[in-house]
Amino acid sequence: MEAQTEWNQCARFGRRAGARHLMMAHDDRVLWARITIEMIHMADAARSPFSDADERFMRIALEAAAAAAAEGEVPVGAALVSGEGAVLAVGHNQPIRRRDPSAHAEMAVLREAAAKAGNYRLPGATLYVSFEPCVMCAGALVIARIERLVFAARDLRFGAVRSKFQLADSPLLNHRVQVEEGLLAAEAAELLAKFFERRRGQRRFSDC
Ligand code: ZN
Repeated sequence: MEAQTEWNQCARFGRRAGARHLMMAHDDRVLWARITIEMIHMADAARSPFSDADERFMRIALEAAAAAAAEGEVPVGAALVSGEGAVLAVGHNQPIRRRDPSAHAEMAVLREAAAKAGNYRLPGATLYVSFEPCVMCAGALVIARIERLVFAARDLRFGAVRSKFQLADSPLLNHRVQVEEGLLAAEAAELLAKFFERRRGQRRFSDC
């Protein structure tokens, strides 16, 4: 294989990985295979914008989402983290239990953290949430001057930061939240899918 062709093929895995591949490929075929696997891992790491700390905080949000499911609420959980990496608040969806349409996971952590801080503005904070925020929560993130939002799965029906609207980083507003998505999305989506599957089953049973 021509070196240039190999370089082009490697380009999609990232330049650093591609360069290593190019150096090794002509020396040893067995090593070539091993380098290819290593290259894919490196490329995955290079592509992911998320740190180990991001994953740790999203896991806290996922645990909160599981707690919501156990209460019969739609499983969405959130964790709010300061710029210094301290967990300010953890919460989950509770509109049914609280009889409150605003009792979403994001609102719960914003309220708790703002009360502790004595300030409705929470600059420098990152909000981790297992599901894409709705219109209400996206607006609250902007008002609270949240610096960064990391969400797991998209909400194709109500999502207001990517799916239906792009409110959190809109150029029309005076504050833009940095939005990142997809961290542990499969796990978050599975929690939701299992919850709705179980609920459908219960409804069928009660219809009998
Ligand atoms: Zn919401």
